[in-house]
Amino acid sequence: MSTIRIKNGRVMNPATGMDENTDVWIRDGRILGFGKDPVNLRNQDGESLNGGTEPEDLRPDQVINASGCIVAPGLVDVHVHFRDPGQTHKEDLVTGSRAAAAGGFTTVVCMANTNPIVDNTEVLDDIIRRTADLPIHVKQASAVSLGFKGQELVDGQAMIAHGACGFTDDGIPLTNAGFIRKAMEMAAAFDVPISLHEEDPTLNEVNGVNKGAVSDQMGIGGAPAISEDVMVARDVMLALETGAKVDIQHISSGRSVDLVRMGKKMGAKVYAEATPHHFSLTEESVLDHGTLAKMNPPLRTDWDRSKIIHGLQDGTIDMIATDHAPHAVEEKGQEFTKAPSGIIGLETSLALGVTNLVRRGYLSMMDLLAKMTINPARLYKFDCGDISPGKAADLVVFDPDAAYTVEEFASKAENSPFLGALLYGKVKCTICQGEVVYRD
Ligand SMILES: [Zn+2]
Ligand SMILES: [Zn+2]
Repeated sequence: MSTIRIKNGRVMNPATGMDENTDVWIRDGRILGFGKDPVNLRNQDGESLNGGTEPEDLRPDQVINASGCIVAPGLVDVHVHFRDPGQTHKEDLVTGSRAAAAGGFTTVVCMANTNPIVDNTEVLDDIIRRTADLPIHVKQASAVSLGFKGQELVDGQAMIAHGACGFTDDGIPLTNAGFIRKAMEMAAAFDVPISLHEEDPTLNEVNGVNKGAVSDQMGIGGAPAISEDVMVARDVMLALETGAKVDIQHISSGRSVDLVRMGKKMGAKVYAEATPHHFSLTEESVLDHGTLAKMNPPLRTDWDRSKIIHGLQDGTIDMIATDHAPHAVEEKGQEFTKAPSGIIGLETSLALGVTNLVRRGYLSMMDLLAKMTINPARLYKFDCGDISPGKAADLVVFDPDAAYTVEEFASKAENSPFLGALLYGKVKCTICQGEVVYRD
């Protein structure tokens, strides 16, 4: 029996709408209840949980002072790359989990573009076996196609039976409409999401920078928004036809946001993720940060960025997901066209949301947290993202007003354009299954 009391915080639980200054009580890895008085703990509806009698063992073993802080469900990120197996010089399951915990995340979904690719149960079993001892919940997605070739489906039945939580070839776009329809039918049959990286390679000249003013200035071509838009348009229609839960990953183009909005209106089960960098930065950042602002799909114009923010506001974009993509210093140190795409994101995601969305008045804190907790949890039917009594004690305690300069990372990598940035919103403590897994 172990009991934790998180004292004096502002408890926000988007799953129930709870927003109250109170204490959270945790026992044996679960949320016990809320209240200042241990003899009268309540659930979120104010109903008494222990009928006025203090259980003898309720003296807390640990008290966490959350004065001035928000206490929320542990964050959920449905899009990370932990590079394990195969590229563990960039990141591995252990360091990736530490970075997640430091960022307030207690559940993440790893993409399948490891080496070997997660397209068979042998690779999947090995990863899932190694996630058991990690400080947070690490879920694994299955590839859609064998070898990421976009031609033959994986054995979906076996992959789901062995614990895969969804399907994705993230990193390699699926260009064949007939194949993607079959893939969506497979995902629909298992009622799991299929997550799509939307860039038609035949329309891209150079990856990682928007085709426009900045790529012209650099004289290197670029990746135009239309490359995303044509794929999103196709997949919104296929989502409508197949009934699959289709997650448009790292949406970057303003017109794609409009297409997702239209798809939702038509009744497609289409969802979208925005990354912190796509709502925070524009193509101009490539001039300042070079390869540290190179990612696929690229940062686009201020018009696209404001459309993404509008999509977050009106619910078109359901989730914030980081696309945490670690690379080694030498790799990112190459010239722009040779360096790999992607940036890390787990440790700056919450602060970028607080700084660039909440403090600027675009989103309420509750809406931001919904997009980082219960919305992704519901899409995947994960039993997390909700701190109602009886639920797993996965929580983050953060100070929304604490300013800090981004200086170091728990991740093995440090490829972030936000190094040196002044951000608001500091994670003080992350708790997973009732265990403190990060403390500032
Ligand atoms: Zn991607
Ligand atoms: Zn990705």
